[in-house]
Amino acid sequence: MSEGAGKAQEKRKIQAIKGVRDILPPETALWNRVEQTAHEVFATYGFGEIRLPIFEATELFARSIGTETDVVSKEMYSFKDLPTRNELALELWDRSVQFTPSGDFQSDEEKQLFEERKKGELLTLRPEATASVCRAYIEHGMHTLPGNVKLYYMGPMFRRERPQKGRYRQFYQIGAEVLSHTGDLKDDARVDAEVIEMLTTFFEKAGLEGTALYLNSIGCKECRPKYVELLRAALTKVKDKLGPDSQRRIETNPLRVLDSKLESEQAIIEKLPRIAEHLCPDCLEEYTEVKKQLAMRGISYAQNFRLVRGLDYYMRTTFEITAPGLGSQNAVCGGGRYDGLVELLGGPPTKGIGFAIGTDRVILSLQDMRKLPVERALDVYVAWMGEKNYPAAVKIARRLREAGLAVELPPGEMKFGKALGLADKLGARYALIIGDDEVATKQFTVKRLEDGEQKKLSERELVEHLKAGEAP
Ligand code: AMP
Repeated sequence: MSEGAGKAQEKRKIQAIKGVRDILPPETALWNRVEQTAHEVFATYGFGEIRLPIFEATELFARSIGTETDVVSKEMYSFKDLPTRNELALELWDRSVQFTPSGDFQSDEEKQLFEERKKGELLTLRPEATASVCRAYIEHGMHTLPGNVKLYYMGPMFRRERPQKGRYRQFYQIGAEVLSHTGDLKDDARVDAEVIEMLTTFFEKAGLEGTALYLNSIGCKECRPKYVELLRAALTKVKDKLGPDSQRRIETNPLRVLDSKLESEQAIIEKLPRIAEHLCPDCLEEYTEVKKQLAMRGISYAQNFRLVRGLDYYMRTTFEITAPGLGSQNAVCGGGRYDGLVELLGGPPTKGIGFAIGTDRVILSLQDMRKLPVERALDVYVAWMGEKNYPAAVKIARRLREAGLAVELPPGEMKFGKALGLADKLGARYALIIGDDEVATKQFTVKRLEDGEQKKLSERELVEHLKAGEAP
C-alpha cells in the first residue's frame, strides 16, 4: 500500500456495523425507566436477577435451540477461541505430561487430548438467554433450592438477521424463567398464568398501551409429531398453491408454513388443521386450565393457532404479545413452556416456563405513543470569571452536586455573555455567577434564566434556594 493510500484509510470514518446501533441520551433515560420497571415488577413476584455471560460454548445453543432452526443454522455469531502456544505448554506442565526422549507423548491418550485442545473451542455470542439460564441452573445445582427457581435477566442478544425497523443484529431482551421439579398439570397451568400476569403488569407499569396477548398450545413430544404429519399431509394436497418457501417447508418444517406472511397463502392456512384440536389429553388439560386461570385473573387473550414459535424446545403453552406502532415486527414478547430442556442439557428432570421481551421494540412503541420520560433538567450553570476564582467555582459546584443538583461547570473561562448564552441553550434553570466581587464578599449572584431575576446569596443560602427552586 502506498503511503497516501494508507493515510486515506486511516482517515476513513469508522461507523457502527450493520444492524448494530448506539442508543443515545435522552433515549437512554427511557431505557432506564423500562428496565427499572422490570426490576421492580419482577421483584414483587419473587424473581431474582441473574447476570449471564455474553458468550457461551456454541454447543449449548446447538443442543438447546436445535440445529434445524434459523437461529442456529444461519444467524449465530460464532468464533474459534484458539489457545496460544504458551497456554498449551502451561496446561501440559500442569498435568505433568511425560515425553519420550525424542519429544513424543508417552501416552496416546495425552496426545489425543492435546490434539483436541489445539483445535480450540467454538464459542458463540448468545442469540437468546434461556439456554444460558438452564446451564447456570445445572452448574450451580439450583434444583436443590427450596421452591420454584424464579430468575430474570436483561441484556444484549446477537442474531445475524436482515436488519429493518425493530429488527437488529444486536438487540436487547428482558426475560424471566421459572424452573420447577414438582407439581402437577394444574400447578403448571397456574405458574404459566402467573408469569403472564406478571408480564401484563409490567407492560401496564411501563406505560405500553394497546398490547394484545396471543395464546396457543403446541402440544408435546407425544401429540405434536402426529399433528405435524397431519399438517404435512394437508399441505401436500395444496402444494401447487403454495410459494417456494412453504413448498420446501412441507418437508423440512411444516409448522413454519403457519408463520407465512405471504398474502396468497393466507386463505389456505386458515383451512389447515389446528394443533389445539389435536392435543393429547394431558396437553388439552393444561391448555384448558391455563385459559381458565387467565380468565380468573381478568387477563384477556386471543387464541392463535398459527403461533408456533421459532425455537425447538417449546412445548404446550406458547404466547406472544404484540404492541402498536411497530409495523411488521410487532411482537414485543414471546414465551412458552419448555419442560425437558434442562434434562437435555445434562441436568435433572425439570419443568420450565419463560418469556423474552424485546426491549428495543418496547422503546419504539413507547416513542410512537410519545411516552417519553421527563428529562432531567440542568439546575445550575456555573458562569465563573477570572482564573483565580476557578477553585471557588469547583468547591461550590461540588457542594451543589452533593445536595443533588445537576450542575454544569465549564472547564474554561468564558466571557459573561457567552456563558449565559450557553446556559440558556443547555436549558439550565439558573446561572450562578462567580467573579472577583462574589469571591471577595462570599455573596454569589444567582440569575433565574426564565425571567432574568437576580439575587445575591451566601453559599449556605444558595443550596437551600436552588434546591427549593423558589423564585428569587
Ligand atoms: P425470541 O427470543 O425469538 O422468542 O424473541 C422474543 C422477542 O425478542 C421478540 O418478540 C422480539 O420482541 C425480540 N426480538 C427477537 N429478535 C429480535 C431482533 N433481531 N431485533 C429486535 N428484537 C428482537
